[in-house]
Amino acid sequence: MANYNIFLKRGKCTRCTNSIVIQRKYSGENLCPSCFESNIEKTIYKTISKYKMVKPSDKIIVALSGGKDSFSLLYNLDKIQKRLYRSEPITALTIDEGIKDYREYCIKNATEVCKQLDIEHKIISFRDKVGYSLDEIITKKHQHPNKRYACNYCATIRRRLLNDGAMELGGTVLAMGHNLTDIAETFLMNILHKRFNLISSQFIYKQENSLINPYFIKKITPLMRIPEEEIFVYANIKKFNYYPSHCPFREKDPILRKRVLEFIQECKKYSPEIEFNLFNGFMELSAILNNHIEKRENNDCKFCGYPCGKAQVCNYCNFKMELHS
Ligand code: SF4
Ligand SMILES: [Zn+2]
Ligand SMILES: [Zn+2]
Repeated sequence: MANYNIFLKRGKCTRCTNSIVIQRKYSGENLCPSCFESNIEKTIYKTISKYKMVKPSDKIIVALSGGKDSFSLLYNLDKIQKRLYRSEPITALTIDEGIKDYREYCIKNATEVCKQLDIEHKIISFRDKVGYSLDEIITKKHQHPNKRYACNYCATIRRRLLNDGAMELGGTVLAMGHNLTDIAETFLMNILHKRFNLISSQFIYKQENSLINPYFIKKITPLMRIPEEEIFVYANIKKFNYYPSHCPFREKDPILRKRVLEFIQECKKYSPEIEFNLFNGFMELSAILNNHIEKRENNDCKFCGYPCGKAQVCNYCNFKMELHS
């Protein structure tokens, strides 16, 4: 594990007399490393319990990218599962998109951490499943008139490989490392694109749908009430050896997601609670939409059989065909 410095700030902890590591503008609390660490771990546990994310009988698969979020998630879920549920051991699942340097570094660290925690670790690669790494896809599509951004290919393919990989591993729950900032950002993106069906389908307590469920594993996001900068501080306190930057494509491509995040960060300077407002807005709106939006008929993709809305072919199969044409 890397030895990251924790920068202590001026001031005394609201709960004890130690020097502080974080000032929470949204709550007015000042916390020292030890009180902060235990608060974060309690929040993760309470989120799992409040939203009934896991049952003792579940087999949990953790999506492990090797970033600060997924290491924090794996460490906590492993502790909770061993202490409380004592059900089947957790398995970590990493998708290797094939992004030079970035993913190689993350996979090396993910493998080491799984060894240290004695957790089974499965790696599934784009190249094995769709024939090309993401870097190769981007090079291949470079001259193409309909070329898309890396994230368009990556998100669709990765989502499918994670889902299928988790089910093949016998998982009943797939834990994702999305934090509060990610949830706020995605919600705002979906509003900007008027994706009400998607917001509705993300309702956390949505009813079981016997037509769709056999294809998609239940996803949970235990970090969803923790802002990104707090996961950053937590991961440094725990000395997790995570990749210290974002994926290079996030910087290269002019994706809207990045702009939405910058907008939220700007708003936070004036309204520190803004991400919590977006989170609560998402919870309320997804419940309302889920009750009111008429359930759409789903076609089955004519290649893989997965539900694909009004289309005849799902996005994943479309991309695969496009890559091999
Ligand atoms: S930023 Fe885009 S290309 Fe990079 S891992 Fe995320 S979705 Fe994939
Ligand atoms: Zn303290
Ligand atoms: Zn398909």
